[in-house]
Amino acid sequence: MTLFDIHTHNVKPYTKGGLIDIKSILNTFPEDFNDLSKSANESTWFSCGIHPWYVDGKTERLKSLEEIIKHDRVVAVGEVGLDKLKGPDLNLQIEVFEEQISLANKYGKPLIIHCVKAWDELVALKKGVKTDIPWIIHGYRGGVEQTKQLVSLGFYLSIGEKFNLESLKHIPVNSLFCETDESSKSIEAIYKQVSMSLGFDFNQFAFRMLGNMSKFAFGLTK
Ligand SMILES: [Zn+2]
Repeated sequence: MTLFDIHTHNVKPYTKGGLIDIKSILNTFPEDFNDLSKSANESTWFSCGIHPWYVDGKTERLKSLEEIIKHDRVVAVGEVGLDKLKGPDLNLQIEVFEEQISLANKYGKPLIIHCVKAWDELVALKKGVKTDIPWIIHGYRGGVEQTKQLVSLGFYLSIGEKFNLESLKHIPVNSLFCETDESSKSIEAIYKQVSMSLGFDFNQFAFRMLGNMSKFAFGLTK
């Protein structure tokens, strides 16, 4: 059985050959991609992006980001997004996010999104871009009404260690992913927690997550 950890900051051990095979998307920044890609193993794929907290000095960084995104093993652009509580001016964050949305579209790779208290701005950006590229909000913990709105707009939501149980029930399984982010919990533990909350059998849930992954041709499901 294969489990997918779509967003993590920790290099995970190589698992192939065991009962459970774990495939992870390790988050990188343009500056640390080279080092991290060397230290990773065959169970690891990558996302790379300019995080909203660190959008200063964007011109050079966007150039190196584009080179990295072309890499086969880089399967998503992220984490990128908007944060009203931390980081530089929101207008600059939006500008750099828009540039990275264009890169995601150009190379056909999904976006992994960090969003803190900037939901209206995120929704406006999504409505303004015609694309089939998945927009995946990571570490999602929003309330029920917000969840319904985001689902209706076609967002995908990735659930980690902490989540809103009521909201989870309003996310169609087809729009769902799981992640460990910075948690010390295993992806297996997160799958267990989420599948139990949804009343799914673990294996059945894992099978549905595999279906979600293969739809995006992440290259992880082969
Ligand atoms: Zn993260």
